[in-house]
Amino acid sequence: ALKETDLHDDLKKALANVKPKLLIDGEFVDSSSGKTFETEDPRTGQVLVEVAEAQEEDVDRAVQAARKAFDKGPWPRMDGRKRGQILFKLADLMEENLEELAMLESLDNGKPLSASKSGDLPQSIEHIRYYAGWADKIHGMVIPTGAPVQAITYREPLGVIGQIIPWNFPILMMAWKLGPALCAGNTIVLKVAEQTPLSALRIGELALEAGLPPGVLNIIQGAGGVTGAALSKHPGVDKLAFTGSTEIGKIIMKQAAERIIPVTLELGGKSPFIICPDADIDAAVEAAHQALFFNMGQCCTAGSRTYVHEDIYDEFVKKAAARAENKKVGDPFDESTEQGPQISKGQFDKILDYVKKGQEEGAKLEYGGKQIGDKGYYIAPTVFSNVTDGMTIAKDEIFGPVQSILKWSSVEDVLERANDTEYGLAAGVFTSNLNMATTISRGLRAGTVWINTWNVFDAAVPFGGYKMSGIGREHGEEVIHHYTQTKSVYQPLEEPQL
Ligand code: ADP
Repeated sequence: ALKETDLHDDLKKALANVKPKLLIDGEFVDSSSGKTFETEDPRTGQVLVEVAEAQEEDVDRAVQAARKAFDKGPWPRMDGRKRGQILFKLADLMEENLEELAMLESLDNGKPLSASKSGDLPQSIEHIRYYAGWADKIHGMVIPTGAPVQAITYREPLGVIGQIIPWNFPILMMAWKLGPALCAGNTIVLKVAEQTPLSALRIGELALEAGLPPGVLNIIQGAGGVTGAALSKHPGVDKLAFTGSTEIGKIIMKQAAERIIPVTLELGGKSPFIICPDADIDAAVEAAHQALFFNMGQCCTAGSRTYVHEDIYDEFVKKAAARAENKKVGDPFDESTEQGPQISKGQFDKILDYVKKGQEEGAKLEYGGKQIGDKGYYIAPTVFSNVTDGMTIAKDEIFGPVQSILKWSSVEDVLERANDTEYGLAAGVFTSNLNMATTISRGLRAGTVWINTWNVFDAAVPFGGYKMSGIGREHGEEVIHHYTQTKSVYQPLEEPQL
């Protein structure tokens, strides 16, 4: 039931179009126990809608539907080109419904509508199209052998994929997971984050409209420890793909180990951005600002350790604080808003605790550090200077709008410090010196390195973590290997070849 909030008509319409249930075997159904949970508006903390919560028996139903669709259904047997057409159609439908999906995304997540419209949605659509294009290009090889034997390989889908995604980019994370798994002919049980189930459910409906056979994509939501745990333990799942915290990633990997099934993980980060003394300071300040504050700091790739050379440190800090002060924080549906609320009360409290810890441990609060307004989960963009490597705010993933600026003097030293972390998701360098850019980008132990930019992604370019930031890569051709397995077939050749 929709509760009255200050939603305008378009938002109400978008919300009314969502079926707040579970998508199992091509049908939107209630959970078998009738259990629901509330999803809330981060602008106010008010309940938006009650959504069905998948319990263990619902997860089982979803896995069985995906199993049936894989073992007996048309999807894995369909010619790749036809699978591609259905995925292209899904992308077209997402594009036709872009405004509505963007509104749902911002309503449930709190991110500025302008970002949903110009970033999350177009990138998600592009991702689906990129993998739609792969659907008829996945093939094996004929391998010459030493014997009179012909050897052929096939790339076959893995089966039922259990995918678990977070709340920070609900549609984009969904697209990253669906594209490669579906184009290769797998079937899916997707567990979306309990904070942000709405857009995925609407896209699930569009996928059916696009012609995805029932059971190929099942969507379930609920608490991580209930729904997520049931999915990751389910013996009917052939592979687990997870995006979220390193802490939960370890649990997922243990579950995969129990059954020797493949697992891919895209986990946390504490990504260093090294600003060199030759950098154009204004451009570097802006890049470092965006690297950290984009999406309210709720990015696994957040540039959360800004290392600034001592020669430009003071000027940089002053400008970084001024930039934070100028940031337009407010209602995500206001066109000029750059920063909306954090996702939830839990995250809001956690971030403010980190701010307190930063102050207690001796970092200098240059700007922010407190709530904005008195309702919802808005936090002022926060800048700390005089941060040192041992401080909690320089080590933990905060997942909020808190920039930590550290000082460096020698390249060798800053590289060592930048790499002295259990994470290795992303990193960056800002410099006008080509050799320096090469030296630093090659020295950084991270899956992605950005030079004079940040948060650039492309469907074709591998993305993933070194060290405890993950296993495997998303995007490009590489992820297709994570969603297929190779079968080798030998056939003796009886006649000598002509
Ligand atoms: P975040 O900090 O982004 O919420 P989490 O790792 O806690 O990161 O959550 C990411 C996803 O993992 C969410 O969909 C969440 O519900 C799910 N999740 C949380 N705990 C578990 C668990 N024990 N088993 C499986 N999934 C879980």
